[in-house]
Amino acid sequence: MSSTRVFEMPEHWEPVPGLHERISALIGDGRYRTAMAELLDLLRQDPSNVEAATQAMVVAYTSRTELLNAKEPLTSDQRSSAILAPIATQCSVCDNFWYSIHVLAQYEYLGVAGARGVQCPICRYTLCKECAAAAPRRGTALPCATPGCAGELQTRALPTGRRGVLLIDPGRTERVIVVRDGPIPPEIGEALSVVTRWIPLVPKDAPFVLICRSVPGLMREEASCQFMAWKLVDTLEKDTVLAPGAWDRSTSMRVHGTEDDIDYLIITVELPDKAPSSAAHGFLADLIRDHLQRVAEENPGNSGPCWTGLDSDDIIDETAALLLQASEDARKMNHLATRMRIFSKYIIVAGAIPTLDLPQARGQFENGYPSYIERLYENFRFPGYDMSFVHWISCSDGRTTQLHMTLLPADPSELAMLAQDMLEPTVRRSLGL
Ligand SMILES: [Zn+2]
Ligand SMILES: [Zn+2]
Repeated sequence: MSSTRVFEMPEHWEPVPGLHERISALIGDGRYRTAMAELLDLLRQDPSNVEAATQAMVVAYTSRTELLNAKEPLTSDQRSSAILAPIATQCSVCDNFWYSIHVLAQYEYLGVAGARGVQCPICRYTLCKECAAAAPRRGTALPCATPGCAGELQTRALPTGRRGVLLIDPGRTERVIVVRDGPIPPEIGEALSVVTRWIPLVPKDAPFVLICRSVPGLMREEASCQFMAWKLVDTLEKDTVLAPGAWDRSTSMRVHGTEDDIDYLIITVELPDKAPSSAAHGFLADLIRDHLQRVAEENPGNSGPCWTGLDSDDIIDETAALLLQASEDARKMNHLATRMRIFSKYIIVAGAIPTLDLPQARGQFENGYPSYIERLYENFRFPGYDMSFVHWISCSDGRTTQLHMTLLPADPSELAMLAQDMLEPTVRRSLGL
């Protein structure tokens, strides 16, 4: 769990230098969408960032009153983003929610006129305007409906959080699987609109979202829906898209679409716990470092962000873990085994082949390595998102291990590299290598 369910104003917090000025200028210019996009990105990375949370409240609150003439109004996806759930105030009776700024002491005087609802100052029982109009009164006062609470509802409203939001830690998420009831799977934009409402992700997280086809009739009931979720996760695990034991790390939720009111199934899969680093893992990490260093020496002056990023300890750690898993699978099956993971700006695919014999190793790639890579790249490509693609291959006879690497940087001006040892000699000659 990444953040608290309900935002509370702390007495002290660290301001983010320049943020207040930047957001104020954007608000002054009516550019709420740009302001909120920046704040959502910030809160996606750091949900406990108080400065970003309070600025988001101000943007969401102010944009409401100035929507009509704003240059860039908030989008409805931004307004209902799960990232903003902790700062939202929600009606206790219906699903209506809004953003109020009473929790920010300096705005105490604002927002009484045209209040979106009322709240009990003792227990935060909340009613939206519509539900308040229908609630029984005692004279002019609206008594709190919480049993045993003597409070009276007032226009000053504090955050209550939004119900039903799954506050996962995006940094600990392996994949988010989305299924829509009916024969036509959603476009990525439609899927994101639903996902970001219930899970604290931003549109940039699209590569983590995997859209799957629904099985007719299974979405209607909770039990059959759960069965479909299990079946999907199991299949993806067998296809090595998810790490082993994925179902135990999954949470599934059934929600309604934002526009279409159709049922959606969202399955989030957490990353597996880091395996305690073993000697084998350390050995692979060293091999990866050596390999990268050798490539750097052979290609002096090539230091684009994709290449330098590959050298970070985090990525080397993850790659070594993937290679280790793939190697264990390859040993058991006695042929090519593959594991993949999306990590920061990289799609990392690790392949392991249980032999050092190069002609035998090449034979593992159906129709040759170049066409294998082409298919893999097509499967895992996310047009419009600058993701670099890395394919590591470990060839091992159990005693000696050799690594090979293919790298297709997101930026085509950076050096791309094909694992040459995986190419048939005739292909290599025809490419002039
Ligand atoms: Zn209501
Ligand atoms: Zn109360």
